[in-house]
Amino acid sequence: MTAPTDRAAGRPTSDAHARSWPCYACPMAHLLIAEDDELLRDALAALLEQSGHSVACAANGAIARELLESTRFDGVILDLGLPLVDGMEVLRWIRQRLLALPVLILTARDGIDDRVQGLNAGADDYLTKPFIMAELQARLQSMLRRSRLPAFGGSLEIGSGSASRLRVDPTMPRAWLDDEALELTQREWALLQLLVANAGQVVSREDVLNAWQAEPAEGAVGSNALEVYVHRLRRKLGDSGLSIRNVRGLGYMLESGTP
Ligand code: CA
Repeated sequence: MTAPTDRAAGRPTSDAHARSWPCYACPMAHLLIAEDDELLRDALAALLEQSGHSVACAANGAIARELLESTRFDGVILDLGLPLVDGMEVLRWIRQRLLALPVLILTARDGIDDRVQGLNAGADDYLTKPFIMAELQARLQSMLRRSRLPAFGGSLEIGSGSASRLRVDPTMPRAWLDDEALELTQREWALLQLLVANAGQVVSREDVLNAWQAEPAEGAVGSNALEVYVHRLRRKLGDSGLSIRNVRGLGYMLESGTP
């Protein structure tokens, strides 16, 4: 067995953290490649980095799972034939914990059963090896687009049952609560967008500060700024049935239900 490269050891490339928040106005994403074929893995990583994505790599299923536990990804390219922990097992594991994470599986040419099993186990799309890189890129982009714009009209949406329907325009600072426009500053919108895109999951302070860096300035970000913006958003959400929970030490989470 060859010595693990930085990528195979699962270390994210240098600026992975700076890009690890979902960005709706631009196509970059933080991606995990789980593939034991070193040549293919490196070729995929190089291609995706060239396209502006940040990439972490895993050479086996165990590393893939560790990375998925410790890092938030926007999408996964998952080879089904992986050593240590099989790709199918990784896929089932993902679907039990990370419901919304888009997964593109790679299967062998004769692995029709694998493909069917993979799709049944919750893969979003598949490619049969060997494939051409342009096709992988096209499939990946459309998978990421679908996952980022889950609702009609290209907006992010949350709210069901007794909760109000909250829609956020992913391209400009606009949002609606039951079709009534919310007045939002650029930063409030960026924060709300992150919370809606990750509803039910914790959004860390770091994620928010990173997203704000990408927005035009509204003055310096003081140490209490995030709390102030969360407070304002809570007021604007009022008695909509949607609440922003403070998860101590971790960050904030948008929930549908009682505060
Ligand atoms: Ca393989």
